[in-house]
Amino acid sequence: MNAETRKQKRARLLQSPDVSVVIVGGGINGIGLYRELALQGVDVLLVEKEDYCSGASAAPSRMIHGGLRYLENGEFTLVRESLNERNRLLANAPHYVRPLPTTIPIFSRWDGVWQALLRFLRLSDKQSRRGAFVIKLGLMAYDLFTKGATSMPTHRFHRKCSTNTQWPALNKETVCSATYYDAWISYPERLAFELLADTEQLSDTGMALNYAELIRAEGDQLMIEDRTDGAQIRVKPRVVVNAAGAWIDFTNQAFSMPTQFIGGTKGSHLIINNRELYQATGGGMIYYENPEGRICILFPYFDNVLVGSTDISITNPDTAVCTAEETAYILESLKYIFPDITISHDEIVYRFSGVRPLPASDRETNGQISRDHSCRVMPASEDQPFPVYSMVGGKWTTFRSFAEQVADRVLADLDVTRQQSTHALAIGGGKDYPESDSEREHWCQQFSEKYGCSILRAEQLLMRYGTCAVALAEKYDLGNDRPLEHHTGYSYGELTYLIGSEQVVHLSDLLLRRTALAISGELNMAMVQEFNELLARQSGWSAEVAEEELSRTLSHLEKHHGLDHNTLNKRPSIRSEEHHVSSQESAYEAVVQAG
Ligand SMILES: Cc1cc2nc3c(=O)[nH]c(=O)nc-3n(C[C@H](O)[C@H](O)[C@H](O)COP(=O)(O)OP(=O)(O)OC[C@H]3O[C@@H](n4cnc5c(N)ncnc54)[C@H](O)[C@@H]3O)c2cc1C
Repeated sequence: MNAETRKQKRARLLQSPDVSVVIVGGGINGIGLYRELALQGVDVLLVEKEDYCSGASAAPSRMIHGGLRYLENGEFTLVRESLNERNRLLANAPHYVRPLPTTIPIFSRWDGVWQALLRFLRLSDKQSRRGAFVIKLGLMAYDLFTKGATSMPTHRFHRKCSTNTQWPALNKETVCSATYYDAWISYPERLAFELLADTEQLSDTGMALNYAELIRAEGDQLMIEDRTDGAQIRVKPRVVVNAAGAWIDFTNQAFSMPTQFIGGTKGSHLIINNRELYQATGGGMIYYENPEGRICILFPYFDNVLVGSTDISITNPDTAVCTAEETAYILESLKYIFPDITISHDEIVYRFSGVRPLPASDRETNGQISRDHSCRVMPASEDQPFPVYSMVGGKWTTFRSFAEQVADRVLADLDVTRQQSTHALAIGGGKDYPESDSEREHWCQQFSEKYGCSILRAEQLLMRYGTCAVALAEKYDLGNDRPLEHHTGYSYGELTYLIGSEQVVHLSDLLLRRTALAISGELNMAMVQEFNELLARQSGWSAEVAEEELSRTLSHLEKHHGLDHNTLNKRPSIRSEEHHVSSQESAYEAVVQAG
């Protein structure tokens, strides 16, 4: 982000409270819209009540995908749009979005034909197992939608014997399997920050504030509370966009307009550290049905395996945590697909949960609720002289197209002509990203020579920040930088850079979103304390504030991610400079090339 601090931004806003557009919610949809509008020269304010990308946008399965299973609901337009966006993200953010070979174990040849037909005709909501025939039809459509648009191979079926050879730990009742290609995102939160940073670099008409909550509307004004100190800021918008995800209906209460747009469902995931399970994936995703016909997924994530997810109706998104029942359910599903692999609770190194902001629906099965997006309009009225648009639903994958569509409606309201498209706009460290292995090697060689660091460090920074690593190196002397005591893969310069340039307010922002330390399963107590001390020094906190911050973060880690004191105390410090994602990345690339 640019050099203007959060404090300076707030002062600027107090001086000029008239803004064309206020976006409420800094998840991926709000951030996507913020970029779209600011790039067209619209003065736009984004307010987020917590940290950016801390709601549903921090809890996805990390798939950037077309949505194979939406085909049986007849949602061809959504699948086509999602596949186009997936391909754009592969091109525009290659540092974080990468191909993902995905294998479906299949348990029968003809199961599910009748049920799939009924679901397609909207005559039934029931889940059922899908056999080879139904899956073949879906994969053919998938390939057709992306024909000529991607270098990824088309799908392939494997006979029983070759399935057993390639994935020996799979349930032996599989009659065959099919592999197709989608994509995954390594650091969704970082991609969101890079969108914010790009916006502030490319345009001077946007302002984004985290920990700023819309609390009410008063006539033609909105009241925003700065949650860092309780100060209230009045702004006067011409248009409001409610991008509050699962909180959309709660937020619309601020406008005294009761809405029932959302029917949120909670989804939880586990990150598991188990070698056998890691190897059982064969280096790609296993996309499987559990005995009741629900789709579950697992794939290698950093050095661990990401497994999920649940899909449970929930009314208050603030209460979403991964419960013991959900953990048991996910482990039970795993047992079905890999019957001989035993997972102990100690091997669950992280848990996370989020609420999908799905449209309110009367479908019987949550899995059948559309993952499509829509923009609901509440027109301006005498009491409220601005229209309110609500961004309902959507997927991480389709954030750009959803934002583009909403931006076009807002631009029409404001009578502003679109100046720039984001179709092919590189995101953050995806700009000039070295594509091939040899280009990456060359890039790292040059980087290490220019900035006086080891090649390994250059690779690590490229993996973490893409080509944005250059901005960090320009600011901090990497040659004289000091590794942290409890995680030698991070340095003081790097963290100082993140704290200073990415609006870090709380310790959890740093541990959960600016870095991937928590989700990677690396975090330990000494590290939490070391990060807190550094943040306290840089933010000028008193000893009491630093202590409060530490206990606030520790209770958040325990409640939301299953990391209690005992677990954190037992974990060792990280002394190596290994960088797991790049080896995972090469494994995927090898599979894609072999395709
Ligand atoms: C379990 C799960 C798995 C998923 N898997 C995938 C996947 O693999 N691939 C994929 O493409 N998509 C996936 N998704 C969907 C995707 O993550 C969501 O659709 C997307 O993140 C929604 O973004 P959003 O910005 O609308 O909502 P959010 O990210 O929830 O953002 C809304 C924000 O609004 C803020 N807010 C609320 N009220 C106020 C207020 N009054 N003032 C200021 N701010 C406010 C909240 O704090 C929140 O940060 C998944 C979602 C879940 C939950």
